[in-house]
Amino acid sequence: MTPPEATSAPARPPALDRLLEGPALKSLVDLHGRQPVLAVARDELARWRQAEPPCDFDRPQFEARCQALLQAAATPHLRPVFNLTGTVLHTNLGRALAPPEAVQAVAEAMSRPTNLEYDLQDGQRGDRDDHIEGLLRELTGGEAATAVNNNAAAVLLMLGTLAAGKEVLVSRGELIEIGGAFRIPDIMRRAGARLVEVGTTNRTHLRDFAEAITPRTAMVMKVHTSNYAIQGFTAAVPEAELAALCRERGIPFAVDLGSGTLVDMTRWGLPAEPTPAQAIAQGAQLVSFSGDKLLGGPQAGLIVGDKALVARIKRNPLKRALRLDKMTIAALEAVLRLYRDPERLAQRLPTLRLLSRPAEDIRAQAERLAPLVAQALGARATVQALPCRSQIGSGSLPVERLDSACLALGAPPGQRRAGRFPEHLAAALRALPMPVIGRIEDGLLRLDLRCLDAGGDEQRFVEQLALLQLPG
Ligand SMILES: *Cc1c(COP(=O)(O)O)cnc(C)c1O
Repeated sequence: MTPPEATSAPARPPALDRLLEGPALKSLVDLHGRQPVLAVARDELARWRQAEPPCDFDRPQFEARCQALLQAAATPHLRPVFNLTGTVLHTNLGRALAPPEAVQAVAEAMSRPTNLEYDLQDGQRGDRDDHIEGLLRELTGGEAATAVNNNAAAVLLMLGTLAAGKEVLVSRGELIEIGGAFRIPDIMRRAGARLVEVGTTNRTHLRDFAEAITPRTAMVMKVHTSNYAIQGFTAAVPEAELAALCRERGIPFAVDLGSGTLVDMTRWGLPAEPTPAQAIAQGAQLVSFSGDKLLGGPQAGLIVGDKALVARIKRNPLKRALRLDKMTIAALEAVLRLYRDPERLAQRLPTLRLLSRPAEDIRAQAERLAPLVAQALGARATVQALPCRSQIGSGSLPVERLDSACLALGAPPGQRRAGRFPEHLAAALRALPMPVIGRIEDGLLRLDLRCLDAGGDEQRFVEQLALLQLPG
């Protein structure tokens, strides 16, 4: 052991002012501003003073750390990722992607004054629903329409307006939970309505509803069983029959459609999904659905139907608490406009474009990318192009799958702890500048290419793989 007095004292840093005059910190000040640079530099100097054992001050290292910390702090927390999960409408990854028309409309609405609640004809106060009500009426056949924050809010608002303190009849087979936080019985209670379960889990008949109607009944509600399917010995009451019964007894009939697309999806080879127009045509008096599921728009909850009922909903003070902001209205109007031209919808609406991508195209893309990805990964992982199945997501068509193709990444031969390899690889892919999210299946990390647009994004995806850092 050398006695402490025998070692020379560690090299000390220059004064903070001097450090800031150096080219490295100067350019950081230009980039991030003086205050954040000062704060980081002070923290780093304090760290050096407290180092145990004391060490020499290393200026290049200090500057590099300042730069890394400032850069990390400047990275937005909400950022784009590659959704290669195979779930097109992934709730955790933000659901539908906006078309350029909607992005443009949002940018305008955010940066300029608009006629959000202003009637340009008579110069008086207007209603924010006016921007979308006409389009929704045209596209669904409903007499009136309104919109709120999301479909959960729409259901809450319908129930709270028409059924508070009264009873709502729902088939037992439709008492669903969606994504944990939205359960029909809970939302009913929160809206102040009493749920009356009708029929059995697998079979509910018209007479079950007829017998359950009492003077306390405020509404009959049908809930689209979005995220599961009942198969086998089942019976549900056709909407037209339920609507006729409700009309006869003078009770509003509401349908929570969940996803609700505005067009017949089968024209693009996709599975059939009920539309609000069908529900209205079958006699539903109110229909609610999401803006950011199959419709492919921004997060919103849309309500269409009977004029008098919609007017009551609009007068509910809760509507004010759940209302849409101008950005959403701008995006929603732009997306609804695209539906006026169904012929070009599949090219213009990203959700539909991704859902209707032919499997052969995705397969060809996988074959083309596999060697490029293998080259970028070198010996770090094996790469195969394999067929797989995508799903629509967000509770739409839960049983249906779409043929697709993926890049399947596996452990290189001779890898230690190969069993943990897919998890390690998934973590490394999430740490890339633009995180890549895949799914692990049968010991392989699968990157479903359905949502990887050919073009700019594809190149970025391949290029950044060179940065992948796997634990040794
Ligand atoms: C998704 C869904 C909801 C909730 O809609 P959000 O827009 O996510 O709030 C409600 N009901 C059904 C049937 C659904 O599928």
